[in-house]
Amino acid sequence: MQAEPQAFDRVLSSMCTEPHPVARDAAERFLATNPGDPGTYPTVTALEDEAIAMLGEIAGLDDPTGYVASGGTEANLQAVRIARERADTTTPNVVMPESAHFSFQKAADVLGVDLRIVPTDADHRVDLEAVRTCVDAETALVVGVAGTTEYGRVDPIPELGRVAREVDAMLHVDAAWGGFVLPFTDHEWNFSHAPVDTMAIDPHKMGQAAVPAGGLLVRSADLLDELAVDTPYLESTAQATLTGTRSGAGVASAVAAMAELWPTGYRTQYVRSQNNAEWLADALEKRGYEVVEPTLPLVAADVPRSTFDALRDRGWRISRTGTGELRIVCMPHVSREMLASFVADLDRLEVR
Ligand code: PLP
Repeated sequence: MQAEPQAFDRVLSSMCTEPHPVARDAAERFLATNPGDPGTYPTVTALEDEAIAMLGEIAGLDDPTGYVASGGTEANLQAVRIARERADTTTPNVVMPESAHFSFQKAADVLGVDLRIVPTDADHRVDLEAVRTCVDAETALVVGVAGTTEYGRVDPIPELGRVAREVDAMLHVDAAWGGFVLPFTDHEWNFSHAPVDTMAIDPHKMGQAAVPAGGLLVRSADLLDELAVDTPYLESTAQATLTGTRSGAGVASAVAAMAELWPTGYRTQYVRSQNNAEWLADALEKRGYEVVEPTLPLVAADVPRSTFDALRDRGWRISRTGTGELRIVCMPHVSREMLASFVADLDRLEVR
C-alpha cells in the first residue's frame, strides 16, 4: 500500500510549507538531474547560477556567489568551515547567541571548533555586550540570526559586524527562515546593511520551493574557494558543496518559485502571514496567555503543558520552545481559517 504524504491542514510548527505549484512542477521535471556534476547536467547548472543571482538580489549582494545547499544546516556548517579555514589560529572559536539554530552544534562538532554561546536579552535578541566580552583573537566567526527559529527575532546585524571586524573575525547571518520575509520589513539584516561575509537563506522555507533547497551566499568567490576540493573523475575540476550528488529538483524549484514570486508574491505572502501572526497573538492575549509579540510571522505563547498535549491529541502539529512556550509559525499554508479553528479548539479545551 502506498502511504499518503503529510497533509498541511493542521501543521502549525513547521518551517517548511507546501511548494508553490510552479515549484512543484519544476521539481518533478528536474528530479533526475544532479547539479553536483555540471559537465553532465549543464541545464540544471545554469539554473543554479540563476538561483544564486536571485538569492543575491533578495539579500542585497552585488555579484553574488554561492550554491543551493540541502538546507540551512548545510549552509551554516559550510559558513563555519569557511571561517575555520580563514582563521589565523589552530584553535578557532565561533561566537553565537543561544537563539542560534542547533545546526551550529553539529558544525562545531564535525569541524572541531569551539562554540561560545552568549545569552539573549529580554527581547530574545543577542546580548551585544556579551558578544563583545566573548570574542578574542581566536574568534573565527560571529553568528547573527535574522529570524530566529523559536521567536522570529532579528539580531542587530550591523553592530555584530562591527564587533566581528574589531577582532578580524567573519560575520555569518543565518537568514535561513527570515530571508524571504525580511526584505519587506525595516530590519537591517543583509549584505547591504553590514559587512556580512556569509549567509544562509533557504528557498525551501518561506521561499515556497520544494525540499531540498537551501542557500549559501558568500560575499566574494575567494570565500567559496576555501571549500573547494579537486574532482578528478568529473569534467568539472573542483567542488565546493558538502554533498556530492545533489538535488536538481531543489535547484529547479527554487528558481521557479523565485521567478514567480520575487518580489510581489513574496510581499503579499509576508503581509498575509504577518497579519495572521498578529491576529493569533491578539486572540491568545485576549484569552489571558502571555504572548511573545511577533516581529516576524511567528508567535510564541505561554500555554500550559496539559493544554498543549490536548491540542496535539486533536491532531494539531505544534511544537514548544526550549523554555516550553507554544510556538506557531505562520507559513504560507497557514490560513486564517486554520488559526480560527485552532483557537476554537483551544476554547473548547479551556471550558472543561
Ligand atoms: N537556521 C534557522 C534559523 C532555522 O530555523 C533552521 C530550521 O528551521 C535551520 C537553520 C536549519 O535548516 P534545515 O532544517 O533546512 O537544515
